[in-house]
Amino acid sequence: MARFLVTYKRNLSALILCFCFLLFSGVLIYFMRQQKAILNQLKQPINIVEQTTKTPKPPSQLRWKSPLITNCHSADLRLRAHLLSMPLRIKQIEAHPTNFGLRLRKDLYSQRLNPNPTVIVLHETVYDLDSAVNTLLTPHPSDVDQVSYHTLVGRSGDIVQLVDPSFRAYGAGHSAFNGRWVFSNRNLSGSLNNFALHVSLETPRDGSHNLDVHSGYSPSQYDALARVLADWMVRYKIPATSITTHRYVDLGGARADPRSFAWSELQKRLTALQLVCN
Ligand SMILES: [Zn+2]
Repeated sequence: MARFLVTYKRNLSALILCFCFLLFSGVLIYFMRQQKAILNQLKQPINIVEQTTKTPKPPSQLRWKSPLITNCHSADLRLRAHLLSMPLRIKQIEAHPTNFGLRLRKDLYSQRLNPNPTVIVLHETVYDLDSAVNTLLTPHPSDVDQVSYHTLVGRSGDIVQLVDPSFRAYGAGHSAFNGRWVFSNRNLSGSLNNFALHVSLETPRDGSHNLDVHSGYSPSQYDALARVLADWMVRYKIPATSITTHRYVDLGGARADPRSFAWSELQKRLTALQLVCN
């Protein structure tokens, strides 16, 4: 009888252990599946229709006419080979956290927002690359001083990534694109930053002034810019017609950048990459 009881207890313990193991494994698998489902959901492009009924409308603005889709030429295959094979000189330096923020899914009026980037804004730095990097690394606790671009392109073709495209860079203040803007801060006007990607070209040395023109950008700069834009256009399905300038989106009329920008140089490169005019 005693032996029977010992065997019975052993079997019962083994059974309980086995049950606990199965239960633990089940719970673990459940949580792993849940986590995978959440991660998969985050990877999916978010296709949200924005609500705008409560949002004040931006001042009227002429629709953007893209210079990239006029006077098209056929693709230059040599240029294509060059652009695809050239080594990219990319530096990653994170801007100070006061100079960028999250892409919002609700605005100040509790209206639903699409946080995906849908427009690309071109800028220029006015001063040199180091000076622009320093500005973005400097803490700006006051909302009105905050400034940033996602990426800078130097005169020699260097690419400096400062704000990850999944975040909102503060490239434009009072601004809109084709009648669309977002209110994200009660101290500031509406702007396109929530749905924009900002890239700034290093101004040539003869452009550190506020006159209308300078000597323009280098071929290496247009090459590197085309690669940056190609990456964003493919990744976020942004058409060439949604590549615009700070001058166009600025509603205050004070911005003129990028000055002396040669759209034909960009068009030639994006055509070679089969992203426009095909
Ligand atoms: Zn600008």
